[in-house]
Amino acid sequence: EPILRAMSRSLTKSHEFQLRAERLLPGGVDSPVRAFRAVGGAPPFLVRAKGAYLWDADGNRYLDYFGSWGPMILGHAYPPVVEAIQKAAANGASFGASTPAEGELAEMVVSAFPSIEKLRFVSSGTEATMSAIRVARAFTGRKYIVKFEGCYHGHSDGLLVKAGSGVATFGIPGSAGVPDEIVHFTLALPYNDLDAVEAAFRAHPDEIACVILEPVVGNMGCVAPVPGYLERLRAITSVAGAVLIFDEVMTGFRVALGGAQALYGIEPDLTTLGKIIGGGLPCGAFGGRAEIMDLLAPLGPVYQAGTLSGNPLAMAAGIATVSELSARAREIYPELERVSAAVASGVAAEAEAAGISVITNRVGSMFTWFFTKDPVTDWESASASDTALFGRFHRAMLEAGVWLPPSQFEAMFLGTAHGDAEVEATIAAAKVAFAEDRR
Ligand code: PLP
Repeated sequence: EPILRAMSRSLTKSHEFQLRAERLLPGGVDSPVRAFRAVGGAPPFLVRAKGAYLWDADGNRYLDYFGSWGPMILGHAYPPVVEAIQKAAANGASFGASTPAEGELAEMVVSAFPSIEKLRFVSSGTEATMSAIRVARAFTGRKYIVKFEGCYHGHSDGLLVKAGSGVATFGIPGSAGVPDEIVHFTLALPYNDLDAVEAAFRAHPDEIACVILEPVVGNMGCVAPVPGYLERLRAITSVAGAVLIFDEVMTGFRVALGGAQALYGIEPDLTTLGKIIGGGLPCGAFGGRAEIMDLLAPLGPVYQAGTLSGNPLAMAAGIATVSELSARAREIYPELERVSAAVASGVAAEAEAAGISVITNRVGSMFTWFFTKDPVTDWESASASDTALFGRFHRAMLEAGVWLPPSQFEAMFLGTAHGDAEVEATIAAAKVAFAEDRR
């Protein structure tokens, strides 16, 4: 059984599904980057996944390097997760009342993230960041928020300013439909630039409620914090009385069990989580210092709610995923590091051998090959990448049976189902793709 199977069947069924979807769903999708506009070509429609592999409606198989944009760290259809969801479903999909599972997952989260004293579950990362900002504003009595160019925190109005992910991919500065007045209080600064942060606090003394960031960015492609950056942000916000929010929707349980805050040893005031915490089901969470979180209704005056928050199926999938990661953390994270390093550097070496400039940014099992010459530390340097070359590379890899995220400005993820054979096959496919690109 070969590790990679080149696409052998045409995307006939996918095309049919696409045309059918386009009649009713704008662009044929429910989330813009799925449309493959940035890389060209038509998106295969997926019907099944197992471990590190995906199958489309026409029977083509792909090695998966995006893991549903992050959640699938244990691989697809991981048996304990499937069983947990089935068991929970048999007991009723949703009650709209409290369940024991919420307390159980909360205890697991708090033990992995010591900075979180109290938390609340929501149904997406967008809700988590939106709610964290609301409670930070209530806590400080201030209006301004600081975010960073190229960071994506979901699609709530106030955060769609110079955002990453699809917003960056499509070159949209913000979003139509968001009034200027609403983003008036959002200050968007360059990432990894402490002078800009200090200047913002000087310009707005006692007016900045919070600083929110991806402590390792995934949404302009992978960009790590420069040494000292997170430490200084912690110090600046503490002195200014502003709330420091780490958006660990991607990095939580990914770069380490305890997220980027464990990896770099910095404690934020609030943390947002999503993706892995729901094991592939819709789930997010925000939490942190108890004195801030206790402002939430019903204890306090900050309103925040959700019909499906803490949903029993999402909690079951989250518990199954997080308990496995916790129990085997000492084995899982070093292995993810080893496999990720091998594929990231192996593909980069093939690019260089073919005379293609590539900058590889990687933190654990999150990484990006930027097709550019100079180090990528912020949105400006990321956006210097050759996106046309990325598009060609993406298409060649897809044809070879490797599914990369369909944008230069997204991080790749792998999981525990990826092993040495997958790495070798990926490097070999990349070698062919780069060689053909030269011709
Ligand atoms: N924050 C970060 C860092 C993310 O990567 C994402 C999604 O990619 C979000 C927030 C939004 O999460 P969701 O798509 O679940 O609303």
